Amino acid sequence: MLLVLPLLVLPMLSAWISVAPQLPQDTVRRAEPEAEPESIPNKLRTVVIDAGHGGKDPGCVGRRTRESRVVLKLALQLGRKIKREMPNVRVIYTRSTDHFVELAERSAIANRNRADLFISIHCNASPSSSRVYGTETYTMGLHKTQGNLDVAKRENNVILQESNYQQAYKGFNPNSPLAHIMLANYQHAFMGSSINFAEKVERSFRRNASRKSNGVKQAGFLVLWRTTMPSVLIETGYLTNPDEELYLMSEDGQEQIAGAIYKAFAQYKEEIEAGG
Ligand SMILES: [Zn+2]
Repeated sequence: MLLVLPLLVLPMLSAWISVAPQLPQDTVRRAEPEAEPESIPNKLRTVVIDAGHGGKDPGCVGRRTRESRVVLKLALQLGRKIKREMPNVRVIYTRSTDHFVELAERSAIANRNRADLFISIHCNASPSSSRVYGTETYTMGLHKTQGNLDVAKRENNVILQESNYQQAYKGFNPNSPLAHIMLANYQHAFMGSSINFAEKVERSFRRNASRKSNGVKQAGFLVLWRTTMPSVLIETGYLTNPDEELYLMSEDGQEQIAGAIYKAFAQYKEEIEAGG
């Protein structure tokens, strides 16, 4: 059914896209199906690291901690590693303290700084079972399962806490499956590079941090919607699983997770700078 649905919504999609030119040009990438071939950057000079949530938005919560707190530590640790090992790479955070940043502003920060890669870091939650655990890395695209859609809906729901969300996201309804299908169809450019980096992250979680990888997945995430560079959203583990929560909170766990993402980053950088 999911294969048929996009065809049904195409007229609605084109209507939705038609409003895009009114948006600020520096934050919008037109990505209709006829989009130009992906231009792959051959130098990785700037990376934007996005710690999800923050301030009035705790993200998902476990028994002991909250997503906003864990992901800030992971983001800062990843950034420190990159700065230390690669002094020529510019590291920019969307937030470096516990404060609220709107989703549209996160991608705008990456676009304004002409980032070559956007890494959004999150923790997952399973409402149905405390046994679910493991990592998954998302790129922008059409969800294949209800579970993937549920992750995007949860992460996108934060816009309801933004004062101007109706205008900022063109009436996007974070509770609507159809809105997510339309959103996923919007971005096509940089999909290949995004998936390439996402695969490296998941492989590195398995190999370098002995994590259970649930794989690379796609869904429509507002935080990735308008980025004009390869972009991923990493779900580093489930706070609803008590064991994984303890791991995500621990210094060792955070060191392993940030280290695994760093290794994927180093590999990706080397690959694109060697010409793919
Ligand atoms: Zn999140």
